[in-house]
Amino acid sequence: MKCPYCDAENQSRVISTTHDLQGGIRRRRECKACERRFSTYEKVLRATPLLIKSNGEREAFDREKLIRGIQISCAKRAIPAADINELVDRIETHLQNMGRDEVSSRVVGDMVIEGLKGLDPIAYIRYAIVYLGLDDLASVRDMLNTLLAEQNSDTPAANVSSDASAGPNEQTPDAAQEHSPEAAPTAD
Ligand SMILES: [Zn+2]
Repeated sequence: MKCPYCDAENQSRVISTTHDLQGGIRRRRECKACERRFSTYEKVLRATPLLIKSNGEREAFDREKLIRGIQISCAKRAIPAADINELVDRIETHLQNMGRDEVSSRVVGDMVIEGLKGLDPIAYIRYAIVYLGLDDLASVRDMLNTLLAEQNSDTPAANVSSDASAGPNEQTPDAAQEHSPEAAPTAD
């Protein structure tokens, strides 16, 4: 703490401390060197870390961009906008709670994948194909088989089993075709 008048470092003593309704702390201080008074204000800032992309670039967390990417994967699926918002809220809070300056963008992508898995299997598959960079049918089939195996061992919800009953071989070409470059979710 530097005195704004005489620049003396760490010479101030606190005369009074007040907490305001916004969670901030105001401290009235007096400089021991020049005896002048000033105030400081402390507030916890919940910063969202920068995302480190796979190519090393840093990018600010962009809530709207993330929502758009997820919405593309959710196109024509019966997924309430509130669920997507809630997922993005969860991701943002998680990032902030990490308390870091920078984190791998994979943290976001992995959370979207996990979130969509619980929301809608088709949206999950669309997102996963792009995010995991699955560029051949065999990889897509492997992912679908893993997903189906997980679903069979988890809770077989009614809507899940009807989608799953089509089988991976019938779904795979559709899912792959619906992914056009301009519609790619921006998970990276
Ligand atoms: Zn001073």
